Amino acid sequence: MKTPIDQLPPWLSQAVSAQEAGDSPTLALTGEDAKPYLTDWRKRYSGKALAVVFPRTTAALQSIVKACVTNGVAMVPQGGNTGLVGGAVGDLQGDGSNTLIINTSRLRETAVVDSANRTLSVSAGYTLLEVQQLAEQAGLYFPLSLASEGTCTIGGNLATNAGGTAVLRYGNTRELTLGLQAVMPDGALLDSLTGLRKNNTGYDLRHLLIGAEGTLGIISTVTLRLFAKPKTTLTAWLGVNDAQQAVGALNSLLDRFDAQLTAFEWMQQDALMLVLRHFGGQLPVAAQTAGHALVELSSPHADSRLAEAFESWAQDALQGNLAQDCAIAQNLEQAKQMWALRENISEAQAREGLNVKHDVSLPVSSIPGFLDVNLPRLQQMCPGIRPVIFGHLGDGNLHYNFSCPAGEDSRTFLASMESVINEAVLNDVQNFGGSVSAEHGIGLLKRDLLPRYKDATAIAVMKSVKRALDPLNLMNPGKVL
Ligand SMILES: Cc1cc2nc3c(=O)[nH]c(=O)nc-3n(C[C@H](O)[C@H](O)[C@H](O)COP(=O)(O)OP(=O)(O)OC[C@H]3O[C@@H](n4cnc5c(N)ncnc54)[C@H](O)[C@@H]3O)c2cc1C
Repeated sequence: MKTPIDQLPPWLSQAVSAQEAGDSPTLALTGEDAKPYLTDWRKRYSGKALAVVFPRTTAALQSIVKACVTNGVAMVPQGGNTGLVGGAVGDLQGDGSNTLIINTSRLRETAVVDSANRTLSVSAGYTLLEVQQLAEQAGLYFPLSLASEGTCTIGGNLATNAGGTAVLRYGNTRELTLGLQAVMPDGALLDSLTGLRKNNTGYDLRHLLIGAEGTLGIISTVTLRLFAKPKTTLTAWLGVNDAQQAVGALNSLLDRFDAQLTAFEWMQQDALMLVLRHFGGQLPVAAQTAGHALVELSSPHADSRLAEAFESWAQDALQGNLAQDCAIAQNLEQAKQMWALRENISEAQAREGLNVKHDVSLPVSSIPGFLDVNLPRLQQMCPGIRPVIFGHLGDGNLHYNFSCPAGEDSRTFLASMESVINEAVLNDVQNFGGSVSAEHGIGLLKRDLLPRYKDATAIAVMKSVKRALDPLNLMNPGKVL
């Protein structure tokens, strides 16, 4: 439903009506209509805002930002609102009258593939799924893939430097981005929308906006790298005893297949048992191992030798004690079933009740040592605590989650134990050279942790950058810093 423009404060109604000739008007929602945009995906935070506006053009976005600056109103950029750290929520303290949510999901004015340059320039509002489809229609491939891809926007993906399942081969969103255009906190348009792979002309400002979680400007258009479409994909499942064995298998696969290894996901048996309980299905291997790994290899050639090469690797791996069991998906359906086991873990755990979640990264080599130290520590602190551990092992990224002991109320458990568990986990992560946020970002959820776990000089530099670009502190205030 549209909010009549005359219900908005005059300065805002003027800004949303100030369109270039021929542009569709900016949608604005208030009251009940705005509610879906005021609560985050995990339903941890519900903020307030005077309205949610949906500019359709960069020019409209710019006029809204300028009006906010003139009127001293805080701006919260929002894309698909699938973020997991509360980065896109409105005002949590006040009545929202001084905060505007600027949702970029209707920014869809540009979608241009340059096949010879292997790039796609696209407005921030396209969903990740649509971006993948645009690449595919051009016979090319955009590798970023997240379970939220039908809803999250490419602007949000840049703002969070999203990771996903193919980072091992293609890198994070940062590595996939060649250029961007953004409306800066004062309303100026930063035009770095280049498809250049080499451009050493001073500070590379795209990297300031990528991963800034909307605190340094609003991304309006992006230029992405495209790749050859894999013609052969092999999906396989390994039963492994523990993280040590999984790390051995990962490195052996990298030695043998290098860039053809596109995913290596590790899951503990306990996490998979939850999936079987809530979604049914069965594990692809018979061996009762404590750990499992999902392996994906791909090749740009129609290449039956990939399967032969993997079978030969698997034989060596089983003999060399790098895995206890192995199953290769024989068709697309079996491959999908393997991925579903991995992708349903979060949802299965959510159905078990509230849980303590961590999205941490460590050097791959340190993961077994970290687990050896931290798991017994947690078991001692909270006897019966149920680990649900899985993640992108190839990137050193663990989703390191814990459900309460069986029979306990998860809400009560969280109230008394969450901060103690967090401290025990994050201290060990730091001691092993890791990061307290691998791919979900800082937002509100981890903002107060950051000064403890990030280098003090790095925090001071971040604050100076923020002050220099946003002296009025109007762009997503209170997030990250
Ligand atoms: C089921 C599920 C699975 C997920 N899996 C992964 C995963 O594997 N890897 C991963 O990294 N993340 C994952 N996520 C998290 C989330 O999908 C990503 O962070 C995604 O990139 C957010 O995009 P969005 O458009 O929804 O952004 P939003 O949630 O709307 O916003 C996220 C942050 O970006 C800012 N922002 C949004 N749009 C813009 C813009 N145009 N300009 C400037 N700032 C902006 C916001 O202010 C906020 O701080 C998952 C989430 C869900 C729900």
